[in-house]
Amino acid sequence: MNRHFASDNYAGSTPEAWAALEEARHGHAKAYGDDEWTDKAAKLIRDLFETDCEVFFVFNGTSANSLALATCCQSYHSILCHELAHVETDECGAPEFFSNGTKLLLLKGENGQIAPEGIEHTVKKRTDLHFPKPRAVSLTQSTEVGTVYSPDALKAIWAKTKSLGLRLHMDGARFANAVASLGCTPKEITWQAGVDILCFGGTKQGIAVGEAVVFFNRELAREFEWRCKQAGQLASKMRFLSASWVGMLRDGAWLRHAQHANAMAARMEAAIRDLPGVKILFPRQANAVFVELPPVGAEALRAKGWLFYSFIGAGGSRLMCSWDTQPEDVDNFAADLKAALGK
Ligand SMILES: *Cc1c(COP(=O)(O)O)cnc(C)c1O
Repeated sequence: MNRHFASDNYAGSTPEAWAALEEARHGHAKAYGDDEWTDKAAKLIRDLFETDCEVFFVFNGTSANSLALATCCQSYHSILCHELAHVETDECGAPEFFSNGTKLLLLKGENGQIAPEGIEHTVKKRTDLHFPKPRAVSLTQSTEVGTVYSPDALKAIWAKTKSLGLRLHMDGARFANAVASLGCTPKEITWQAGVDILCFGGTKQGIAVGEAVVFFNRELAREFEWRCKQAGQLASKMRFLSASWVGMLRDGAWLRHAQHANAMAARMEAAIRDLPGVKILFPRQANAVFVELPPVGAEALRAKGWLFYSFIGAGGSRLMCSWDTQPEDVDNFAADLKAALGK
């Protein structure tokens, strides 16, 4: 199948991740995470974040988020998140399920981001016994609409969560793209901004399977391995989840690929921004362009076989770039759009 702009999980595995899997394929290793690859991957993550965090590897983002949030809350608690958050819109109720009923409370906010005022407003709106007690904030970095929280924005949220006694969870399915966009160190937008748990996305950055759950607040990691096991997220041949991480982290491939994906999205934005009837819907800060396409343009692109999602508002389309998106993919897409719009 050709390369498309539907999702970064349409892309395959990076050569670096795949090479590590090939190395890990040989010989025997202890099961259930007690192996050298898992040890090495966890160590590389601790090096990357420059702190002694606890690391677990699970199969997918839904379980990473849901199990991480479940460790933060009792069933009578609530979790604040943006109304567009993946945990709300795309996880089939898994956060509520794995936390035995913890309720998600939805916040509005510009560009897919929540803000301290919204958090405070929601927490203070109801403090009585009949309403689930707020216990955690979940935010997505980079966001579901391709924007990125700045370190300052995160620190402002942290100040609010700290004063309100809330834990801070980060859905980092596209964390690598956020780091690439900000040009910061990973620690600046995680534990140095009060993040207790990061779900560090592997799949969308180019690993075949797997996400890392990174606990900066080690107390919250207590008994997490039992949660993983009960949820069916403990891989018996764990080395095949962790080895890809070694491949991505040992020489910085994770960041190079994210920088590339972001650059391809920037190229796309520049190529289509000024076409007639085309409107960029959100600031392009990571690896996606959200755009309103004239219906005739969108139809012509689909007729040409291009795949992309249109799920935000009327006519809003998401053009997602991946680690393997090539400049000519972008140029061909833009040329097809241009032709359809008679330019
Ligand atoms: C893709 C994605 C996830 C993970 O989804 P899974 O399909 O469960 O792996 C989580 N959060 C965001 C924002 C995502 O885009």
